Amino acid sequence: MKPSVLEPWISRETGCDSREALDRWQLERLREAVAHAKANSLFYREHLREVQPEDIVSRDSLARIPFTTADQLRAGPQLWLCCGAAQVERIVTLKTSGTTSAPKRVFFRREDQERTVDFFAHGMGELVCPGDRVLILMPGRQPGSVGDLLERGLARAGVQAVQGGPVADIAACYDLLRASRCTCAVGIPTQVLGLAEYGALLPPPERVRLKSVLLSADAAHPALKRRVGTLMDCEVFDHFGMTEMGFGVAVECSAHQGCHIRENHILVEVVDPETGAPLPDGQTGELVFTTLGRRAMPFLRYRTGDMGLLPAGPCPCGSFIRRLVPRGGRLRDRGRLWALDGVLLDCPGVVDYALEEDGFSLTLLGVRPPELEEARRRLKRAGIEPVSLTAQTITGFSGTGMQKRTLSERSD
Ligand SMILES: [Zn+2]
Repeated sequence: MKPSVLEPWISRETGCDSREALDRWQLERLREAVAHAKANSLFYREHLREVQPEDIVSRDSLARIPFTTADQLRAGPQLWLCCGAAQVERIVTLKTSGTTSAPKRVFFRREDQERTVDFFAHGMGELVCPGDRVLILMPGRQPGSVGDLLERGLARAGVQAVQGGPVADIAACYDLLRASRCTCAVGIPTQVLGLAEYGALLPPPERVRLKSVLLSADAAHPALKRRVGTLMDCEVFDHFGMTEMGFGVAVECSAHQGCHIRENHILVEVVDPETGAPLPDGQTGELVFTTLGRRAMPFLRYRTGDMGLLPAGPCPCGSFIRRLVPRGGRLRDRGRLWALDGVLLDCPGVVDYALEEDGFSLTLLGVRPPELEEARRRLKRAGIEPVSLTAQTITGFSGTGMQKRTLSERSD
């Protein structure tokens, strides 16, 4: 098994060839990040009033830095800025569907985007090599969008990209996959599952053979990953991304036991979602991210609302780069959505589901009619008994899928 492809890249960039050296390096960058934010951003000047960079002497002293939240970001994103507006290369606006709250705005300078491109260029080495061709099923039309940055990263690695956009029409997308002769696809988990189900219904000569698939933008339940791998007969990798972090955060290695973190750019902590107290490795809690070296808009101890854990000990691949295991389910779902994913996305024919919390009704979505009785049996076994359970066939997906799914919104 080869070590994570991120290790040689991160070692080269940081000059660190051990866990201890990288931990020290991250603390130094953290002190710089605090100093940069305090000196240049109106929000952080106030927010970090009590924090001095020199107070940060160990990982434990991270707790001296107050958390930042999505609500603070919504309240005044321009106050977070550490540069003049003229230096901002790209602004991403993230609306939370189904709510009236203000959108989140995230600002990037050219060098911030460049770091994401570099991460993609190296991270994709886990699943493709020069000469391969990748179908990108993510938003990619606008310069600086996730698909655009991924295409730029791939080009740097000698890999061609085809922009397909999110899967609006499953049949048309599958035709594109075949016609473009791609060897790899990158997409949103449920959308890729839809494609996989569609392909499996075709006569074998019409099926596309892929080397690998990368699932991104939303936490993919292991059950979904298994099904995509079986249906498409290819190796499935997980990527954890988040717009605020410049889209890319961590990518799985061939050991498939967690995603290695872009530790030269991002420091990850896991905290108790109720108390905010740091949790030891191996325990599931809320993921908290700190950017290192971000220029336009640094994030310091940003509470993501996403659940996950940092596995204890080194990865079986042998790399010392820390891993992150996403546990899906937004914080307020308390793991409910993740539990539903585990049952439903493992059911034959189900590619997604819509959930109405009122009265707890579930609609199973499939490219062929999902097997209702089987789903009902499995739900019951898991102690989940919806008031109504219906099935619906779909021919595509709406929306960009770039919003992580939440409990009360329809996920079709
Ligand atoms: Zn590994």
